[in-house]
Amino acid sequence: MARSVLVTGGNRGIGLAIARAFADNGDKVAVTHRGSGAPDGLFGVRCDITDAAEIDAAFKEVEAEHGPVEVLISNAGITDDTLLLRMSEDQFTNVLDANLTGAYRVAKRASMGMLRKKWGRMVFISSVVGMTGQAGQVNYAASKAGLVGMARSIARELGSRNITANVVAPGFITTDMTADLPDDVKKEFLGRVPAGRYGSVEEIAAAVAFLASDNAAYINGAVLPVDGGLGMGH
Ligand code: NDP
Repeated sequence: MARSVLVTGGNRGIGLAIARAFADNGDKVAVTHRGSGAPDGLFGVRCDITDAAEIDAAFKEVEAEHGPVEVLISNAGITDDTLLLRMSEDQFTNVLDANLTGAYRVAKRASMGMLRKKWGRMVFISSVVGMTGQAGQVNYAASKAGLVGMARSIARELGSRNITANVVAPGFITTDMTADLPDDVKKEFLGRVPAGRYGSVEEIAAAVAFLASDNAAYINGAVLPVDGGLGMGH
């Protein structure tokens, strides 16, 4: 049966590939955007995940169009890289606010409908660097590691209601987020990837779709790396 799916940051990059994978599966898919509009064929809701009121309004729109969110993909995220000594407190807290607190906000809002339905799937998009750390990404890595503890706590709280909360940890995926990295950094990253190549957005989408499927009903609180072996399974 078609499920009501919401993908934050589903207007481009990894989020868009995830949204398309669910739509191809016949689900009713909504994506958040911050003014760009929705890509063709997808239902878009305007929402900045740093604002709880905007999140609530976006969920209400999705509920009216598709019914309560049954599958939540918390994907929206930002980077603001610099070394620790140069990192301002704003740079740290802004990244945490979007990547971690934003995920908490949407998970909390989604959990209401999932609890009522006694069924739900949450997938949080983390990163290999949440587990390995990365110079210049103290803020980002902390936010991505935080998602693991959060998902596992949600799994413990809601697991008895057929609600799962899992994490996908992508490695180096070709998107706007990675396009601007200096060539020497890209080369250095690639040198550490056993697969010897970058990943595609479709490879992340496939893992997310699996974790949201009935076949993954007994997988909860897991971290699934999709990184060509970079993190060696963590
Ligand atoms: P992009 O930079 O291509 O896209 C980021 C998405 O997040 C956009 O849709 C953007 O919306 C949205 N977004 C950012 N901040 C907010 C906000 N405050 N409110 C709502 N939406 C917001 O990133 P990717 O597709 O590469 O990354 C997607 C996720 O995957 C991120 O969480 C990222 O950390 C993670 N990831 C990516 C990797 C990679 O190699 N690319 C590796 C590991 C993890 P808008 O269009 O409005 O800016």
